[in-house]
Amino acid sequence: CGIVGYIGYRDAFPIVIKGLQRLEYRGYDSAGIALYDGNQINLAKTKGKVEDLKNKAKSISQEGSIGIGHTRWATHGVPNDVNSHPHYSNSGELVIIHNGIIENYESIKQELTKRGYIFQSDTDTEVLVNLIEEVQKTEGVKLGKAVQIALNQVVGAYAIAVFDQKKPDEIVVAKLGSPLAIGIGEGEFFIASDASPFIEFTNNAVYLEDEEMAIIRLGKEIKLRKIKDDSVA
Ligand code: GLU
Repeated sequence: CGIVGYIGYRDAFPIVIKGLQRLEYRGYDSAGIALYDGNQINLAKTKGKVEDLKNKAKSISQEGSIGIGHTRWATHGVPNDVNSHPHYSNSGELVIIHNGIIENYESIKQELTKRGYIFQSDTDTEVLVNLIEEVQKTEGVKLGKAVQIALNQVVGAYAIAVFDQKKPDEIVVAKLGSPLAIGIGEGEFFIASDASPFIEFTNNAVYLEDEEMAIIRLGKEIKLRKIKDDSVA
């Protein structure tokens, strides 16, 4: 399983696809990609190989300099197109990729269902993205803070990347258990499970520690935060 992301000035699609191919050695059963074209999120995902994803993505716009991609190793829900990542939140504004397991997803899912949330997939991941959305709504906080609050309610392991269509210059990532590296370039950032997807672009890499998150914003320094620390603005 693997995670790739890009935010910068180049076309994200080839970087993310090539990155996913470099992470194929980690094993997976499905693959997916979400791109923001300046207007909306375009998403393609499928059971199968990255090569299958490339074919499937012919039906969407491949434009955009912000993208996240995922290879899935199913833990909750069979390998199929719907359970593949990325996953949208109910509003369609948030999109997430996740490697790992949210162990207490059932109880969170029940609570969210009571509040009117509807789930398309059987994954633990779709529960997490909707929990983040619910926190955003009820607490009125920024994405980074919402991710932090949500992760403090979660038991499990994860490497995640989350993107909010309302704030399309930013990707929030976090890690506990699964690996996550950030490549820092000139006016661009890369995200990946290991440095192999971005080694050709930059030698400047930051490896997140467990229980660490990063707010990656275009034109800004990355902000590293402890998930358990309460000081994220
Ligand atoms: N638990 C998630 C799922 O089953 C992520 C699995 C993975 O690590 O790829 O969808």
